[in-house]
Amino acid sequence: MTLLPAIFTSLLIATATPDPDPPAPPTPPAQPAANASEPIKNDLLDLDPWARLAAPEIERLTARSFTKLPPIRVVSEDDLATTLAKPMREAMIRMRANVKRDGTPMSDLEMTVRTRSQAYRVAARTLGLYDHDQKVILVIPQTAEKLGKKRAWSPETIRRITRLALAHELVHALQDQTADLAVRLDALSGEPEKCLMAVSEGHAVVVTDALAETLGWSTANMVLNGLVTGVEEPAPGTTPGTPPPPPIDLHGSPSASVYQSGAAFVRHHAGTSLPKAWSLLASPPKAWADVLDPKRFAPPALDPADPQAKPNSEPATTP
Ligand SMILES: [Zn+2]
Repeated sequence: MTLLPAIFTSLLIATATPDPDPPAPPTPPAQPAANASEPIKNDLLDLDPWARLAAPEIERLTARSFTKLPPIRVVSEDDLATTLAKPMREAMIRMRANVKRDGTPMSDLEMTVRTRSQAYRVAARTLGLYDHDQKVILVIPQTAEKLGKKRAWSPETIRRITRLALAHELVHALQDQTADLAVRLDALSGEPEKCLMAVSEGHAVVVTDALAETLGWSTANMVLNGLVTGVEEPAPGTTPGTPPPPPIDLHGSPSASVYQSGAAFVRHHAGTSLPKAWSLLASPPKAWADVLDPKRFAPPALDPADPQAKPNSEPATTP
């Protein structure tokens, strides 16, 4: 069962570690060059202008237009954990997950401790989030910086990963503005909810892939995809090889399979014509087995009456 409040369905989370170290980033193509001696943070915080450059390219790739660009807020891990803890706690109560393994109800304090620790674990691995309720994008540059330091990525790769994560969240904002994503996710539960989430995540992944290709940022994008779809890191306090602690009842994020299977599903049905993905989002599968085996699913036809359903235009100049 999925116990995700809507706010969590558009997280972009780094789950991986065991994959091999990423290859060294290539020489940068024509891009606003990052000066390696510049402090990373200042460079990363320059996200608004970048979003204004990326948005038209996302519109071109998807053949849909933003009604407006969502505000972008750069937040710390701590800020994000605080933001996440409240709806997590509410969801825990709403979904009656505030029960201990022996069947007795959790005390207030036990609920607080549990949701806070889960919120911190999720926040520590989150690169970006589109908040369905507030209609804002939260970006956490600290995450890429922290992972980058651990793996000796170049400042440029770190900067690009954060920018691609922001692009991924922009796609979710576009889904929300033009396909009512938040309202529809709220109205669903169980497998149909997981299926819509997978199509939404898969769509965001394939659009970000296409954007990265246009930019010549495939190495950073590969690293990002490896992070998001990789094997989950051991929880704090565990060592590799030991059994993981019992899973807690409140899920904090879409699982790696939602991204991976969702992207494979969207690729299977939309191929290289990304605008086709809108009909998948409008009428997603209801059974998870259809996401896992896309051939089972008969995709709905593109609605010719949809004024936005038009083929890709010519590539724009690289932002
Ligand atoms: Zn996402």
